[in-house]
Amino acid sequence: MSVKKELLSKDNMAEWYQNVIAKANMAEHSPVKGCMTIKPYGYAIWEMIRNELDKLIKKHGAKNMSFPLFIPYSYLSREKDHVEGFSPEIAVVTHAGGKKLQEPLVVRPTSETIIHESMKRWIRSYKDLPLKLNQWCNVVRWEKHPRLFLRTSEFQWQEGHTAHATEQEARQEVAEMIEIYYNFMKDFLAIPTIKGQKSEKEKFAGAVDSYSVEGLMPDNKAVQMGTIHYLGLNFSRIADVKFVDEKGAENFVYMTSWGVSTRLIGALVMVHGDDKGLVLPPRLAPTQIVIIPIGNTLDFAQKLFNTLEQNGLRVELDARQDVRPGAKYFEHEMRGVPVRIEVGERELNNNQIMCANRVTGEKTTISLEGDYVQELKNLLQDIQNTLLQNATQKLKSSIIEAKDKEDFINKIKNQEGLVKACWCNEKECELSIKEHTGANTRNLPFDENEKELKDCNCIWCGKKAKKIAYFSKAY
Ligand SMILES: [Zn+2]
Repeated sequence: MSVKKELLSKDNMAEWYQNVIAKANMAEHSPVKGCMTIKPYGYAIWEMIRNELDKLIKKHGAKNMSFPLFIPYSYLSREKDHVEGFSPEIAVVTHAGGKKLQEPLVVRPTSETIIHESMKRWIRSYKDLPLKLNQWCNVVRWEKHPRLFLRTSEFQWQEGHTAHATEQEARQEVAEMIEIYYNFMKDFLAIPTIKGQKSEKEKFAGAVDSYSVEGLMPDNKAVQMGTIHYLGLNFSRIADVKFVDEKGAENFVYMTSWGVSTRLIGALVMVHGDDKGLVLPPRLAPTQIVIIPIGNTLDFAQKLFNTLEQNGLRVELDARQDVRPGAKYFEHEMRGVPVRIEVGERELNNNQIMCANRVTGEKTTISLEGDYVQELKNLLQDIQNTLLQNATQKLKSSIIEAKDKEDFINKIKNQEGLVKACWCNEKECELSIKEHTGANTRNLPFDENEKELKDCNCIWCGKKAKKIAYFSKAY
């Protein structure tokens, strides 16, 4: 397939985003409104994310499982906040097997309630704790304003669910998962995020405390990249999940849950992409290097391909005869392949290769007489580092402060940046901000709130401030 050259300007983010996803063959809208079909290239990116994060989750001590897609309606309604929070978004099955069901089934929007029902039977004593489970699956939350990857009625994700003997251990679990997500975004997606606590209005329905790692997109709208919830005893009391401690006393378990979804792909596209299309960080690129033979160099290119593949690089040989090299360059740039190797007769005669860097556009010649595999690995690492540096620079320069309420409104409305402000930490105040500006608190950042809060008043209502918060619109 060749892609026709067409101007793509990132200045119009919404249009650019749709074009890139379509032209890079990542996903499309499905016949069911709000749902998406993830195409092979989009799914390959998700598999990369999934495989890498799965290793970290397992190393952390959680085991993978598979729970059912359907949850009895009554389970969801046991926790008042939980059912209220999710009711507007749930899909319910009322008929199956040709009959009306006695009890309707909810297509899972998240699996706390059904997993806790199993935990109740699996946990007997302190010896069974901590219990850390994870599943990779699809969930359904009906979406009014769908956008591919960012917001869809059905999406892929992982959901971790843990049970602990003490509050301290559960809080420790939360702290560890925040770090795991934060580092994963930084080290693999090359996206710096902001760690912090979610406000009362923005927290997970049923949680005691919620936390997030937030990424900022080039148009200064945020994407919540991962969430981590401290559930306390809220769910264990309802599902009656208890354990017998060392002294023989029965206690409820303390719980957490945490997840990331396919929206990470939406963030990847927006943060790194450019006017030529997608740009993928080498650590997650399904194809890290594409080799394009020009003229009579196919045998030479094939040998090179074999060597690189044997050395663990994800490499592709584009030997199509009916597509001109220029069209191939354009297509692989659109797909965000980090390095393109061109081998023409000049390269063959000089025993060298020409490497083009997707991010900088620079071309370098590498001799095949030396340790060229290592040189290519270094080049990929350089690209990974450059993407993170660029994104970090952008995030730093986008955090701005508002002088007063008027200034705050303007900065939010014009999407000038992630607005840092003193805040009262009250739900009503946040509802009013949302109503008037369309923005929410993204989170109450840890680094800012660890410092002593200087005497200041809430940017919105003028009451004495209790926290520093980041505000912006969000995807
Ligand atoms: Zn306020």
